[in-house]
Amino acid sequence: MSRAQALRRLADGGRNELRGAPPVSAWRRFFVQFCDPLVYLLLGAIAVSLGAWALNGRHGWPVDALVIAVVVLVNAVLGFGQQAKARQAVQALARMTAVTADVVRDSMRLRVPSAEVVVGDLLVLDEGDAVAADARLVRASQLRLQESSLTGESAAVDKHAGAADDKSNRVFKGTSVVQGRGRAVVTATGMDTEMGHIARLLDATPEVPTPLQVEVQRVGRTLSVAVLGIAVLVIGTLLLLAHDRSLPAVMEVLLLGVSLAVAAVPEGLPAILSVVLSLGVQRMAGHRAIVKDLSSVETLGCASVICSDKTGTLTRAEMTIERIVTASGTVRISGQGYMPTGAATHDGAALAPGALLQEVSCLATGGSLAGNATLTETSPGVWVVHGDPSDAAFLVVERKLGLTAAREARYGRVAGVAFTAARKLMSTVTLDHAGDDAPVLFTKGAPDMLLPRCVAVRVGDEELALDAAMREKILSEVETLTDAALRTLAVAYRRLPVGSATDGGEALEQQLVFVGTAGIFDPPREEAGLAIAQARRAGIRVVMITGDHPRTALRVASDLGICPVDGTALSGVQLDALDDAALAAAVKTTQVFARVMPAHKLRIVLALQAGGEVVAMTGDGVNDAPALKAADIGVAMGVTGTQVTREAARMILADDNFATIVDAVREGRAIFGSIRKFLRYLLSSNMGEVLTVFLGVVAAGVFGLTDASGAHILPLLATQVLWINLITDSGPALAMGIDPPVDDVMARPPRRRSERLIDRAMWSGVLQTGAVMALATLLTLDLYLPGGLIAPAEGETGVTLARTAAFTVLVIAQLFNCFNARSDLRSAFRRPFTNAWLWAAVGLSVGLQVAVVHLPWLNAAFGTLPMTLGQWAVCVGMGSAVLWYREAEKILRRLFSAQADTELDQQGKGLPHGHAPP
Ligand code: ATP
Repeated sequence: MSRAQALRRLADGGRNELRGAPPVSAWRRFFVQFCDPLVYLLLGAIAVSLGAWALNGRHGWPVDALVIAVVVLVNAVLGFGQQAKARQAVQALARMTAVTADVVRDSMRLRVPSAEVVVGDLLVLDEGDAVAADARLVRASQLRLQESSLTGESAAVDKHAGAADDKSNRVFKGTSVVQGRGRAVVTATGMDTEMGHIARLLDATPEVPTPLQVEVQRVGRTLSVAVLGIAVLVIGTLLLLAHDRSLPAVMEVLLLGVSLAVAAVPEGLPAILSVVLSLGVQRMAGHRAIVKDLSSVETLGCASVICSDKTGTLTRAEMTIERIVTASGTVRISGQGYMPTGAATHDGAALAPGALLQEVSCLATGGSLAGNATLTETSPGVWVVHGDPSDAAFLVVERKLGLTAAREARYGRVAGVAFTAARKLMSTVTLDHAGDDAPVLFTKGAPDMLLPRCVAVRVGDEELALDAAMREKILSEVETLTDAALRTLAVAYRRLPVGSATDGGEALEQQLVFVGTAGIFDPPREEAGLAIAQARRAGIRVVMITGDHPRTALRVASDLGICPVDGTALSGVQLDALDDAALAAAVKTTQVFARVMPAHKLRIVLALQAGGEVVAMTGDGVNDAPALKAADIGVAMGVTGTQVTREAARMILADDNFATIVDAVREGRAIFGSIRKFLRYLLSSNMGEVLTVFLGVVAAGVFGLTDASGAHILPLLATQVLWINLITDSGPALAMGIDPPVDDVMARPPRRRSERLIDRAMWSGVLQTGAVMALATLLTLDLYLPGGLIAPAEGETGVTLARTAAFTVLVIAQLFNCFNARSDLRSAFRRPFTNAWLWAAVGLSVGLQVAVVHLPWLNAAFGTLPMTLGQWAVCVGMGSAVLWYREAEKILRRLFSAQADTELDQQGKGLPHGHAPP
């Protein structure tokens, strides 16, 4: 098929996607903002105030109604805008994690987004690929597919190109290739596929709220009920005690109750939460960690164990053969990376012709033949590798020894047996043109797996029988290499009779002649060592899980600081001997798992989880998918990982780098901190409003809130309460949500998953802060009115001025409270200028408050009067009480927690979870 044809078919036949519910239109999303019980309450309030205004003869503007309408509209616009932002972030992520498919168009192999595959495309399938569409196989080699997503059957099924059975020669969208390779012509896409038929039967899956969102909803509901109760109480008390029961007076009380309820409920909370989460996800993507759903952001913050692969994640996967050990001795190879310049030396001297050189040449040639990589010089001195780095290492050493041309002339490849993590071997069959075209099998792989399949050993150009002593010697030489942190790969071969079958696959890998072992250096990533130290400081254990040799693994692990120098590793074989209970005990103390197979990873995850750990687990191969799914955070490799692991994972590392996981954990913790921060701010500010009105009504006598006739004076007017809600809840709260962390989030152990978002300590802080705000506000009222606790300074002032001052104090107190809420323990004066948005929001709020106090038309609308500079100073002083109160309280708590820390240290319990540094 040509590209142009494919484009036409895409336009005609539609995209290869399973369509969910149709997208919701912007209007509808805006309208939904009004479908909320709180908004109904506000709409009711508008009706009440309009009614009052009409009954009173329609004098002037219906200010209350207008202010409430503005509140409703502003909230709806903010909610709509915030949700749109969150949706954009999620959509951007969906694009980043879009699945691709390999197809042949215009006789060229191309990688296209899965959604653009069309009927008639030739799909190229490789191990680890997700099948993009339903297709009929035209070619298949040892092809096995996992079809559980379609059939529920967990065993993989064999597929054959020529099979008569319809199911065996077809592959289906949504399934994955676990082994082999093949090509298939697409027969159906999108909703026409088998998967599409199933999707049609199921309803579109609703978006599942994250645990945090659920908790916030719960908090919101509880608060609403409590606040409504308080509002009813306030209204009841005021009406019972009122002298003036005229309609306008009753309406005013009703309105105050309603606006109190509206102001006290943090209606913006769910929207701000989703913005904070989705901005966090975007920031993580900037750090090259692509998180697929919002709830993983929270889980990351709780991670207590990170299980990581070694090769490529903790190391750079730049393989250089440094030593070669054969029957006649050890050779060192100089040079770095993939530059094929370097020399072979034995005991410090250049390698002379003889048995050793013959063996080393055989190893370099055999290792190069038993691989799939290519090494090309793209421009003079620049060498580029394609394929597996371990394969490439042999090509480099072969070139250093000057053997490449001879090998290419002598051997022609006819078949291959792919590498599998279970065998830890790979082979190719080649025809030896220098020996009657006899087939020769070359195998390379882990020495301990290869040696049992060998019957002879190559010495010079002879093949000698392999006795027990020789086997022992080879294994001890391998240990010497592994102790030097080298990855070991051995090479062997088998001559087959001329004309014999070459497609025997794994069955051919026996009766081999052992050639020697290569010691490969794979440099650790420098940033991994730092990240591991950081993780440890943050109370997170790092565990290495690798297919590599236990000694190599231990050496790399101790170099990186994962385990002590004398640490021990648990091997796959030892792991098999443990039952689940024994394994659960073993994983508590084991830092390195080596020579494990992908299936072991699943058991390790489950054992760690049984011990209460929150596990992040990395993986790249198709067989890692079950472990990634089971882990709390499955982490797939963006560069080397297969599509299947990328689909199973919750997070993808765009750079395959371990340090990125630790960065993501830091971000996850910071996000949780931000959410707590703005909750602390929002709840304590709302508490201040509720307590002001509540105490002002129930303790009116104490604060002198009665007039000469003994009637109640409202502490604040309905419009004032709504105004406070408007200017302090949206801007500053959003700025709090994106506040950079003030505390060192990596200096404490991971949060337990069961830990509440708002715990007892936070509630108590919210109550105290609210109480201080309310007292400061009511005392200011008291200051300007006769009676109560404080005598007026300069005789009596009018109720309107007193209320203006109190109203201003409450606004200023809330703005000071922003800075309190930035940290639970640290002083508000510590790094106060790191959040420009917060200052902008505070500045805007102050400006608006000055306007409402000094602009005549706003005076009329909000029942305010202009104040003198002195009166403003009193307001700022009273408003700042909340800052000083919290500062004093933080100092006390810091003193106590420092004391508690020293006591814990003395008892040797520095870290919870038993994570004592090794
Ligand atoms: P990790 O699991 O941390 O990525 P790893 O890459 O060492 O570590 P595997 O890829 O499973 O783990 O490799 C296990 C062993 O298989 C290696 O120690 C090596 O001996 C052998 N091996 C790896 N790659 C090849 C290859 N391309 N050809 C032959 N043998 C290989």
